[in-house]
Amino acid sequence: MSFQVPAYAAFSAHEPLAPYTVERRDVGPRDVRIDIKFAGICHSDIHTARSEWGETPYPVVVGHEIAGIVAEVGPEVTKYAVGDRVGVGCMVDSCRECENCKAGDEQYCRKGNTGTYASTDADGRITHGGYARAIVVTEDFVLRIPEGLELDVAAPLLCAGITTYSPLRHWNAGPGKQVAVVGLGGLGHMAVKLAHAMGAEVTVLSQSLKKQEDGLRLGADHYHATADADTFTRLHSSFDLIINTVSAKLDVGAFLGLLKVDGTMVNVGAPDESLSVNAFALINGRRSWAGSNIGGIAETQEMLDFCAEHRLGAEIEVIGAEQINEAYERVLASDVRYRFVIDTSTLG
Ligand code: NAP
Ligand code: ZN
Ligand code: ZN
Repeated sequence: MSFQVPAYAAFSAHEPLAPYTVERRDVGPRDVRIDIKFAGICHSDIHTARSEWGETPYPVVVGHEIAGIVAEVGPEVTKYAVGDRVGVGCMVDSCRECENCKAGDEQYCRKGNTGTYASTDADGRITHGGYARAIVVTEDFVLRIPEGLELDVAAPLLCAGITTYSPLRHWNAGPGKQVAVVGLGGLGHMAVKLAHAMGAEVTVLSQSLKKQEDGLRLGADHYHATADADTFTRLHSSFDLIINTVSAKLDVGAFLGLLKVDGTMVNVGAPDESLSVNAFALINGRRSWAGSNIGGIAETQEMLDFCAEHRLGAEIEVIGAEQINEAYERVLASDVRYRFVIDTSTLG
């Protein structure tokens, strides 16, 4: 059984997104139906809508930065009630039994987590995400948006927030640590805010100095242009941790050279092209090159609570449905300040 919801979908890799009616399952015993109020636009939505990570099942409703209000709960739901302010991020299920799920790392579920969109759900249907008026999700994958965080600025935390919070925590960003953030887009601007709130000394490495004033206002202590070759000489061996949020291929070796001995560069950016590195860039300085995928459910709640405590939301530009395609072009042109958020009441 199912019901219909107005949405926006990608129909192929080369066409603009357009209005669509998505089927949602009826609320099951442990499900929560959420009236979506805001949905952030993540660069991963664009990679998926355009089949840049492999063939996407079309049509697909993307969007995994979801904020809304609980509209209905199943009879066995214990954590949420109608009217609660909630969010959904990049996952809507996982096996819950493997060692990684049990450790709270559902994103690394050995059987593969169920993505919020373009994934196959337990019932065999393809999942559809947040560019829609409503979604039905099992309560265990729903997050609580704390008081003090408005829904529009909270939406991007569900992906951009947790994806940067998790590696910053894992690699101990904090007082006395030099943290660099590469790319000042959706993820990058949250990385700057979060690392600053954790007490680290933060440097932005952006392609140009165009966004320098913003970067410093967001909490960065320093800001440098990577187009200036001098940057790589001046900042050699400077950082304990580099968070690379860039959505395109870049010269990994040049950035590894900016790490201190035992420093780590963490890739959260997920370009469609392979990245490569010369072994000497790692050998010199016992450096590490790592990756990180979003964060677990409990950790996502911890991040939301941290953001509420520190009064941190995303810097957003709220748009209507008819501006989604234009917003995609602006994201691709690095012209996002710093997350587009769709007001889902405009979806029809
Ligand atoms: P975004 O808003 O487009 O930000 C990416 C930033 O990278 C841009 O603002 C730009 O910053 C820089 N950049 C873009 N093209 C570049 C190029 N050719 N060379 C150098 N720098 C470039 O994207 P986002 O939503 O933050 O996502 C970033 C990446 O992370 C995407 O690949 C996305 O799929 C991935 N992602 C991964 C995870 C995960 O769990 N690992 C989660 C979410 C997203 P400047 O203008 O400041 O240079
Ligand atoms: Zn995302
Ligand atoms: Zn699992």
